[in-house]
Amino acid sequence: MTVKVRFAPSPTGRLHVGNVRTALMNVLFARAQGGKVLLRIDDTDLERSTAEYEQGIKDDLTWLGLHWDETFNQSHHFDQYEAAKARLVEAGYLYPCYETEDELERKRKIQRAQGKPPVYDRAALSLTEADRAKLEAEGRTPHWRFKLSGGRIEWTDLVRGPSHIETSSVSDPILIRADGSYLYTLPSVVDDLDAAITHIIRGEDHVTNSAAQIEIFEALGGKGAAPQMGHHPLLVGKDGEKLSKRLGSLSVQGLREEEGIEPLAVLSLLAKLGTSDPVEPRGSFEALAADFDLAKLSRTPARFDPAELERLNAKLVHDLNYLDVKDKLAAINADGGEAFWNAVRANLTRVRDAAEWRQLVDGPVTPVIEDAEFCAAAAGLLPEGTLDGDSWGAWTGAVKAATGRKGKDLFMPLRLALTGQPRGPEMAVLLPLIGADKARARLSGKTV
Ligand code: GLU
Repeated sequence: MTVKVRFAPSPTGRLHVGNVRTALMNVLFARAQGGKVLLRIDDTDLERSTAEYEQGIKDDLTWLGLHWDETFNQSHHFDQYEAAKARLVEAGYLYPCYETEDELERKRKIQRAQGKPPVYDRAALSLTEADRAKLEAEGRTPHWRFKLSGGRIEWTDLVRGPSHIETSSVSDPILIRADGSYLYTLPSVVDDLDAAITHIIRGEDHVTNSAAQIEIFEALGGKGAAPQMGHHPLLVGKDGEKLSKRLGSLSVQGLREEEGIEPLAVLSLLAKLGTSDPVEPRGSFEALAADFDLAKLSRTPARFDPAELERLNAKLVHDLNYLDVKDKLAAINADGGEAFWNAVRANLTRVRDAAEWRQLVDGPVTPVIEDAEFCAAAAGLLPEGTLDGDSWGAWTGAVKAATGRKGKDLFMPLRLALTGQPRGPEMAVLLPLIGADKARARLSGKTV
C-alpha cells in the first residue's frame, strides 16, 4: 500500500498557523512513510472561494517548503458528486427533506425542553410521494440527508487511539442544501476514494464528521473503504483562547511579510507543539521529518505563543550562514559582506533587523558623547592602519592605561560615541567594519 495523504484547504482565506499545522503533519507523515501528498482545493463554495486565495495558499505552502505531489480543485468534480448523489439516492442512503431552518429550530427547541438531544427526527423518511409532490408544489425544494446506520462506528485513531461514535446521537447529516449546493462532507469522501487516499489527518473538530464520513465511504466504496483517520487536538492561543480571534496576525502571509519570520521557525515550532519533544530550531525539513510521529501528540490542545516563535526565529537566524541570507540582505540594502553578517547575526531576531546594524556601520550615526575630553583622548589612541579583530582590545587597553578608566566606564562611552546606542553587536567586530576614519569622526561628535 502506498501511503497517500491530502491537505484540503478551502480557498476562502489565507493559511494561518492552525491549518499550516495540519498541512505540516500530513506532509511529515507522508515523507516519513515514503508516501505522496495531494493538495486538494476545496472550492465547492463558489461564492466564497477565489483564485487569489488559492494562489495565496499555494504561495504560502511553497514558501514554507511544504511540497505536494498532485493537486486538483473540487469545483472540477461536480459530475462525480452528482453521480455519487444518484448512487446514494438509488441505494436509499440519501433522502429528501423539506423542513425550513425555522421548522428545524422549533423541533430542536421542543426536544431540548423535553430533555432530549436535538437529533433530527427523520420525519421526512415517512413522507409519501404525494406529500412530497405537495410540498414541492408549494415551492419547496428538498435538501438531502444521509441516513446514518444508528449503530456504533469504531476506528483506531492515529492520534487518539481506539475511538467510537454512536450515530444514534447524531443527526443524519445534510449533504446537499436546498439550493443544490454541496456541503463539504460528500465531495470530500468522493475525492478521497477517487484519489485513493490512505490516511486522513485533520483537526479534532472533524471527529463527528468522520463518523458520518466512514459510513458514506462504506456506502460508496464497500466495507473497509474508509481511510485511516487521525484527529489532532486544535491549536489554541497561549492562554487557551481560540486562535480564530486573531487570525490576521497569525496568517502565513503576515508572518512572512509583516513579522519577518523564517519558514523553518514556523515549521520547527508547529511540528513540536502539543508533543513533549523540546522545541528547537531545525535547519531542514528532513530533520523535522526524522523525529515526527503522530503518536507523540498529546490529547490536550496545543498552545501557540507568538513570543516562542520569535525566540525560535532568533535562534535560527543566529545559525544562518552568509550565503543563506545574502540575497535577502541585498534586497533590504543590508548586505555588508560576510564579516558584517557574522558580526551582527547573534544580535538579530529577524534577518531584516540587520538593516539597523548596517546603518550603524554605514551611518549616518549621531554619536552620543557624554565626556568629550575622554572621547577625544580615545580618538587620539586609535591604532594606525587598517583595523582588525584585535584592534578593539589593543585600543581599549591603551585608553585604559592612559585614562585609568575600566569596565563599563571605559566601554560604554566608546560604544555610545561609535554607535549612538547603549547595546548592540560586539564592538571588537563592529569597530573594523566602521573603520578608523569614521570612528575618529564619531568620537569627535560628528554625525557620519
Ligand atoms: N476543506 C475542509 C476544511 O478545511 C477539509 C477538511 C478535511 O481535511 O477533510 O475543513
